[in-house]
Amino acid sequence: MSNGRASVPDGVKISNGLTPQKDNHYPSAMSQGVQQMSISASTQELAELIDVHLGELRPESPAWRVSDSPISGRGIFAVRDIVKGEELFREHTLLVGPTAHRSTNLRTCTLCYRLVPGEDDTDAMCPAGCGLPVCPECAVSERHANECKLFRKWEPKELGHIEPRALRILSVVRCFFLNEAQRRLLYAMQANADKYYMKEVERAAGCFEHFPHEQDMLDYFYRTICAFNTNAFESRSRVEGHEVLVRALFPLAGLLNHQCTPNASHHFEDAETIVVTAAERIPQGAEITMSYTKVLWSTLARKMFLGMTKHFMCHCPRCEDPTPQPSSSPSPSPSPTLSSRASHVADRKQSCTYEYIAHTPHVRSTLLQ
Ligand SMILES: [Zn+2]
Ligand SMILES: [Zn+2]
Ligand SMILES: [Zn+2]
Repeated sequence: MSNGRASVPDGVKISNGLTPQKDNHYPSAMSQGVQQMSISASTQELAELIDVHLGELRPESPAWRVSDSPISGRGIFAVRDIVKGEELFREHTLLVGPTAHRSTNLRTCTLCYRLVPGEDDTDAMCPAGCGLPVCPECAVSERHANECKLFRKWEPKELGHIEPRALRILSVVRCFFLNEAQRRLLYAMQANADKYYMKEVERAAGCFEHFPHEQDMLDYFYRTICAFNTNAFESRSRVEGHEVLVRALFPLAGLLNHQCTPNASHHFEDAETIVVTAAERIPQGAEITMSYTKVLWSTLARKMFLGMTKHFMCHCPRCEDPTPQPSSSPSPSPSPTLSSRASHVADRKQSCTYEYIAHTPHVRSTLLQ
């Protein structure tokens, strides 16, 4: 999971649609616990913002459109018959940064993802003293300049080695460098609030002498982290033969709802580009779906995974089948990388087939036994 969490936290509850209560300092700023954060855009506005975001990658006449979904919240729907294997869209990230998992090589350039040569961590770190690993070419790039300035202003406590907690917050800190349309898109995305998510900021704050405490900045961080935890993918790719793992926000791909027998699959062309393809024929009008789990997992394994990490119970036909079998036509098996794409409760309809896990504490406790 991109948030590294192993279980559903206590106190998960359904949103009342309010934004988190404001407070004066960040450890208690999220004292209201889990909420569905308000979304500032209609589905139509979201679709328009996504078109701007796609830019030149937007197909001339897309085979799909963004619309409200009977499964959950918003989804993507075929506007014509789509053949198996057809590429549906490709998309660059809105926000991206290293996962900084311990299993990854931290001496990876935060911009071009190449391994930075050298004997130890200090060789890989920016010579200007921002604490970020960056290759010599990227160290002098315009892209690094803003991040470098910000991190130096906050004053990293540790410059003897690469600090994973400070590195992980980079993907969130990059929200400061979004333009106006990108910020509007960020606020148009579903974001499930959970006070647990603020831990990431607290951990990062401990790595700097002067981490910001201004409420508006912390609110923006928090919104971004919630959007990440609701929509982000862990993108795995290879750069010059070395494995790169990043946390990436793809606003369009993040709209794909889950089904245990999905009709679409995805792969990462590089660390910052996702490609979504039809895994089977998709008839006009059908919702395009992906699986947040491994397709061949058993029903129990899928239910446990979705319940504990995505916070919903799936009621798709495969899950409701009393004699569950592995998918008869397994599509390329996507990694269970989409985090916490939970039920969009505020918008959901009677026919919604997701059930928010918080509505079913008995099921949750069963799953967690
Ligand atoms: Zn580089
Ligand atoms: Zn720097
Ligand atoms: Zn299912």
